[in-house]
Amino acid sequence: MARKRVWTEAKKKKAKQALIDARDRVGLNHYSFEVVFEEEEGPTNYNGTMRTVAEVESTENYTTAIFTLYADFARMGIDDMRKHALHEWVHVIIEPLERHALQAVSPSTANLYERDLERVVEHLAKVIYYK
Ligand SMILES: [Zn+2]
Repeated sequence: MARKRVWTEAKKKKAKQALIDARDRVGLNHYSFEVVFEEEEGPTNYNGTMRTVAEVESTENYTTAIFTLYADFARMGIDDMRKHALHEWVHVIIEPLERHALQAVSPSTANLYERDLERVVEHLAKVIYYK
């Protein structure tokens, strides 16, 4: 029996709307974006405590972002989708800094860098969300 897909058309539409809402909220309206809807659960994070629900790759110069949304994202309500979308757009804002930092970080401090980066990004996302 074929497994039921988590990403229905309605959920894809809802997720895209959350990304648009969050993009406008952080003033990145000049960015276009693409979405990869992943049927699998995301990988666990840097210290193995949480599953990744979304990821983003972006390039400052091209003003394009590519989001990967994992199965957990599809199961969320619109508010949680917006919160996670904001978090990912904050990653886009600080992408130039992340790029420089990743070149400077050594393998032994990579986990600490990742932890602190995620804390800062989540803090900023919450400030913007509740503003
Ligand atoms: Zn993050």
